[in-house]
Amino acid sequence: MTYQSFNPFDGKLIKGFSDISATEYEQKLSQAQTCFETWRHTTYAERAVIIAKAGKLLHERADEFARIMTMEMGKRIGEARAEVEFSSRILAYYAKNAERFLAPVRLDPVVGEAHMESSPIGVIFGVEPWNFPYYQLARVAGPHLMAGNTLVVKHAGIVPQCALAFEKLLLDAGAPVGLYTNLFISHEQSEQVVDDPRIKGVCLTGSVAAGQSIAARAGKNLKISSMELGGSDAFIVLEDADLEHTIPWAVWGRMYNTGQTCCAAKRFIVVDSVADAFLSKFQAALEALVAGDPMDEKTTLGPLSSEAALVQLLKQVDDAVAKGATLLMGGKRISRPGSYMQPSILTDIKPDNPAFRDEFFGPVAMFFRVKDEAAAIALANDSDFGLGGSVWTKDVARGKRVASKVDTGMMFINNIDWSDPELPFGGIKNSGYGRELGDMGIQEFVNKKLVRVASMRAPG
Ligand code: NAP
Repeated sequence: MTYQSFNPFDGKLIKGFSDISATEYEQKLSQAQTCFETWRHTTYAERAVIIAKAGKLLHERADEFARIMTMEMGKRIGEARAEVEFSSRILAYYAKNAERFLAPVRLDPVVGEAHMESSPIGVIFGVEPWNFPYYQLARVAGPHLMAGNTLVVKHAGIVPQCALAFEKLLLDAGAPVGLYTNLFISHEQSEQVVDDPRIKGVCLTGSVAAGQSIAARAGKNLKISSMELGGSDAFIVLEDADLEHTIPWAVWGRMYNTGQTCCAAKRFIVVDSVADAFLSKFQAALEALVAGDPMDEKTTLGPLSSEAALVQLLKQVDDAVAKGATLLMGGKRISRPGSYMQPSILTDIKPDNPAFRDEFFGPVAMFFRVKDEAAAIALANDSDFGLGGSVWTKDVARGKRVASKVDTGMMFINNIDWSDPELPFGGIKNSGYGRELGDMGIQEFVNKKLVRVASMRAPG
């Protein structure tokens, strides 16, 4: 069974769901296709009524949605509620702005007149991860449904109740059957979906391995795709950083969602003159976190999303140490039920240590001491990933100069990597390609069609 809800707080199985049968598969794909034939001809205003309503319902039922998430993947309840509200804002944002983003663009040919139109392309297949169970869905549903496409979505195996809740949300908001369809499918069935001629585009958020597999399949079928993959973002602290401001953000940047965020701060690259001060304050702040029930507002350290995630991360830390890294703190499972791990810091990670290039998807910070700004930039760029990163300095102009030299899709100055509905999100290198959110996010799966009028003399 691919889809199972376990509560990571106590490891208990809540509920399992069977993968869909071949008959159900056919019915769902055909409903999505049939819906597209009607939906593509609706006006932006008609689409906006449904998408905005979904956003409104999400806001009104924020606590109910948040509790499902906390129960299934362990996100602390306050963070869970904030994610639901954020997802609601994304839906509202696209309901409001889609028509403007996709309005025809006038071109200026030497002869005649021309414009680009943006039209929907069909059923889009989304493959999504568990770490932001609603935000990830809103990030595809908002733009692509407003653009006139329909969606079939494979959510992660550990969050089936979130997957169903989001599908029901759209139906409650008045969506026609087939507009947004949840698919409980295996990886093999996912390949069948990518191959299906009714599918016209594929978007995936997840690990590099999943991206490589699904992008290759999409490429074989000549289908457009966007990939939002992993990251190992640098958190660059320059000698003029305000540590009182920087440390709380360093903790937040590494520990938000128990460290399970693609654009979390993962590599702390600190200039030598402030390295000792940074490290001791950072360590003290991490040590102050207390494990507890993620449903309890007062808890400061939640569980990892699953037992499997915990076991994998513990092994990664052990391997890093076996290859020469120093474990400054943590590195062990917390002795209590559930998938809890101690906040951890690794230092002395040399380039020949596999950890140097790995993504640590949990509460493990990698710490690097460098001699100056140039060395910090060089180290930040010595990564297979290129998602985001941040620079901490009192000199904003300097921060911007450093940001320009780091090879990533996003850089933040005196603030942590984060997303907003109106700002494009995505990376380069192994972090993938394409952008979600903002104006760019809605342009990924539309046909950019040239229309030209030119009365030229007939040939001959
Ligand atoms: P994952 O194992 O790759 O899973 C992501 C999704 O892909 C799940 O729905 C998963 O299904 C599916 N999947 C995995 N392998 C597949 C395959 N071969 N064929 C079809 N589907 C496949 O990643 P994860 O552990 O859930 O999520 C963490 C990763 O996502 C991290 O690397 C993180 O950095 C990245 N991420 C990136 C972004 C971004 O915007 N760049 C945002 C969030 C997360 P199952 O659950 O059924 O295996």
